[in-house]
Amino acid sequence: MEEFKGQNILNLVKEFPNDDACKAYLSKIKWMDGFKCSKCGSEKGCEKSGFTYHCYSCNHVESATANTLFHKVKFGLQKAFLIVFEMTTSSKSLSSIQMGKRYGISQTTAWFFMQKVRVAMKSSQKYPLSEIVHVDEFVVGGQEDGKQGRSYDTKKTKAVIAVELTDKNKVKRVYVKAIDDYSAKSLTPIFEEHISTSAKIFTDKWRGYSPLKKSYNIEQKQSEKGKNFKELHIVIHQIKSWIRTVPSHVSKKHIQSYFDEFTFRINRSIFKETIFHKTIQRMITALPIYQYQIIQRLSI
Ligand SMILES: [Zn+2]
Repeated sequence: MEEFKGQNILNLVKEFPNDDACKAYLSKIKWMDGFKCSKCGSEKGCEKSGFTYHCYSCNHVESATANTLFHKVKFGLQKAFLIVFEMTTSSKSLSSIQMGKRYGISQTTAWFFMQKVRVAMKSSQKYPLSEIVHVDEFVVGGQEDGKQGRSYDTKKTKAVIAVELTDKNKVKRVYVKAIDDYSAKSLTPIFEEHISTSAKIFTDKWRGYSPLKKSYNIEQKQSEKGKNFKELHIVIHQIKSWIRTVPSHVSKKHIQSYFDEFTFRINRSIFKETIFHKTIQRMITALPIYQYQIIQRLSI
């Protein structure tokens, strides 16, 4: 199939002039390796009107959007495509209020759909950071006091960040995880999910990292007020400014999805041409989630 490439919104509208064109695109991605009935597993069926499949064994008719993150998108797929396009190609964070106004849908509808896009932006954990990796913690929200280091202010959201650098100290990839506290137990998941055991890891002298030395190659050095972790602190600064541009209040419950959106864009900045297609592809292969799950953050 022909993948949509580039960042030109006029080309996008030309390529997807209506909801049916979007459906046809989704069905091509969904059944790229052939049809498989979601009800009975049969692989025998025929395409109907370009974007649904009819199963010969059980007569089930399956739409391109069924069992995907586009499931029950009631405001139209063209608008959904445009929102995905804007979220993946703009470097600023977009508010659901703004998206709602622009596409004539309610702010709540826009917010729920944008949360689904953020689910697709969540890392697949398939490509752990493997070279030089700097790890540190930071806080967002509340009053900025300009202090370096660990804050114990309960109003702030604590997070741990891992930045992969090239041998020329350029930021390659980034992962961020919200944490409850700075204990070894809370710091462990970002290592398990995103850092390879072969990576050369640097942290400051915080004792929470010591138990991880058993499984990881960690060197602890003085932070020197951030001087030894310059690139990492630049990224932390970018995240904080970005979170500040999210106009609605970002609750602690949802902050992880904003971290995922931010890092997804950094980690794919070298693939800008295909970022829209890749996101759509992830939304088709991901399982659908329902509003109550988004609210409760269950199984996400
Ligand atoms: Zn079937």
